[in-house]
Amino acid sequence: MQLNLYNSLTRQTERFIAIDEDKKVVTFYTCGPTVYDFAHIGNFRAFLNADVLRRTLEAIGYKVNQVMNITDVGHMTDDAVADGGGEDKMEVAANRLAEAKKSGALPEGVELDPTDPLAVAQYYAQAFIEDAKALGMEIVDDAQANPDVMPRPTQYISQMIAMVETLVQKEHAYVANDGVVYFDVQSFPEYGKLSGNTMEQLRSGEGGRVDMETQAVKKNPADFMLWKPDHNHLMRWASPWGEGYPGWHLECSAMATSLLGDVIDIHSGGEDNIFPHHECEIAQSCCATDENSFANYWFHTRFLLVDGGKMSKSKGNFYTLRDLVNKGATPAAIRLELIRTHYRSNANFTLQGLKDSQRQVDRWKRLADWLCEHGCVKVNKTPLQDAKEKFLAAMCDDLNVAGAIGCLSEAVSEYTVDMPPENGEGLGTLADEHKALQVMDSVLGVINLESCASTKNVDVDKIESLIDARLEARASKEWNRADEIRDELCAMGIEIKDGADGTTWSRVVQ
Ligand code: AMP
Ligand code: ZN
Repeated sequence: MQLNLYNSLTRQTERFIAIDEDKKVVTFYTCGPTVYDFAHIGNFRAFLNADVLRRTLEAIGYKVNQVMNITDVGHMTDDAVADGGGEDKMEVAANRLAEAKKSGALPEGVELDPTDPLAVAQYYAQAFIEDAKALGMEIVDDAQANPDVMPRPTQYISQMIAMVETLVQKEHAYVANDGVVYFDVQSFPEYGKLSGNTMEQLRSGEGGRVDMETQAVKKNPADFMLWKPDHNHLMRWASPWGEGYPGWHLECSAMATSLLGDVIDIHSGGEDNIFPHHECEIAQSCCATDENSFANYWFHTRFLLVDGGKMSKSKGNFYTLRDLVNKGATPAAIRLELIRTHYRSNANFTLQGLKDSQRQVDRWKRLADWLCEHGCVKVNKTPLQDAKEKFLAAMCDDLNVAGAIGCLSEAVSEYTVDMPPENGEGLGTLADEHKALQVMDSVLGVINLESCASTKNVDVDKIESLIDARLEARASKEWNRADEIRDELCAMGIEIKDGADGTTWSRVVQ
């Protein structure tokens, strides 16, 4: 099966062909988080869609070498301008935590020196990795075996300096009168191709936003910073241009090239990364390596919205994974809710949507367990195996997750309350059905996650025996007893629903 994937660079859906198609190896760079706070689920929407792309490639036979940076330096608060303005996000976080420490508001158990941005970065990086693992991001497992898979820019300063030296040597960068090293955008005619910006638009757009003093020293207002000499910045390094710190676009170019090669297959990020971040990465990388391409396919996830607006830290309208788990949702349901809308459309987050995802995941998980238990039973109908190809075909159609979930749900609905579709001598066993379900879940990544969560949090045997007892009570018209049992289940955080298929249960999400 072959993948068709929308490429933001060409604005077309293309047949995916890897650089090393013979060996079926894919190199994949994902722009990761800046660890200045807990990640919110909007951030995770971008990372989880990259994870779904990776899993889809794996399901059709590729080995994926994925790298995702964890940014611990150089990312400025004003990141909508190519130059990067405002303050270093890590310094802002350090100051915020210093204030929190003074007023005794540091989270319990957190013992860090708030004046040390690296300690702050390590604290939030750890939190990010825990959340990413809970949400089933495969890259975390790889990073356990090989930490280079989630590199930190502070470990790649020498590679960044080497790249700036190359760019200066090739006259794609220059040292301005203020001592700052800038990339000369006019030396790279392709600048603007990814974002669709013309040089004219960039010139006028940039002019208004960056202070006039800085603009005066640049050859072109759109030129962006590669290295900034600075003696006050908390994190700074020696360089041929004096002590200072790197521009934030540089890290991804340096780390992707060092770890994956000069030209990579796929590069991903959120839609806001297109400009300036990825535009600048392309310019730096192509000019440093003399290659025509930095990444062959560019994959961008649209924003997660709340009430029609972007979910973001600054608006305060965000949820973290921890917030939603405290409301009773499992990470598997949160993952499903974040991946079920097509990555090129905005998704609107609602608690009702999350409840529906919880119900769906619980149903799939129960079926998976039941299939596992009754593996030897022979059946005449094999809906899950029949769905598998269609499911993968939907995923290969530019990650049509909703279509794929539709195929899976249709197959699952053939299983009335824990009954095989048709007992018989026939086509296969329930173990084969279980295998097909696992293949589909290797892409969605939710049922496996649920197994840990459900054994941890929910006593499935007790729930099922209470449901049986309630059915018996109803059969003998003991309505009060039946209601009592419903209340008992409710107190355990379990909601039940009577339908044509019998009684089903799911966790309550508040
Ligand atoms: P940051 O940690 O701010 O660098 O953001 C990390 C990633 O999350 C970037 O790729 C952003 O594009 C992405 N992102 C931020 N907010 C949202 C959102 N509401 N929906 C989807 N992606 C987002
Ligand atoms: Zn990046």
